[in-house]
This record gives sequence, C-alpha cells and structure tokens, in this order.
Amino acid sequence: MLGKVLEFFKNLPPKKCAQCGKEIEEQHECYGNVCEDCLGAAYHR
Ligand SMILES: [Zn+2]
Repeated sequence: MLGKVLEFFKNLPPKKCAQCGKEIEEQHECYGNVCEDCLGAAYHR
C-alpha cells in the first residue's frame, strides 16, 4: 500500500510556473501556480 503512494508522488511532474514556465522548487501552497519571480513582479505593479 505504501509503495503505491510513493509511486504516485514520484510520477508527479515538477511544479511549473504558469507565467514563465520555470520549475518551482518550493512546495508552499501559497505560491499557487507562479514562481517567486512572477509573484514579486505582480506585487510591483
Ligand atoms: Zn515565473
């Protein structure tokens, strides 16, 4: 049972920024679908 769960997580694609396509390393849910750079750019507008 545990093995199946681990396999599921291994098959998950890396999280990518919805704006620039950069892979997001952080797993914080609050980042949503954009990387820190795009998040910061949005704040500067
Ligand atoms: Zn980005």
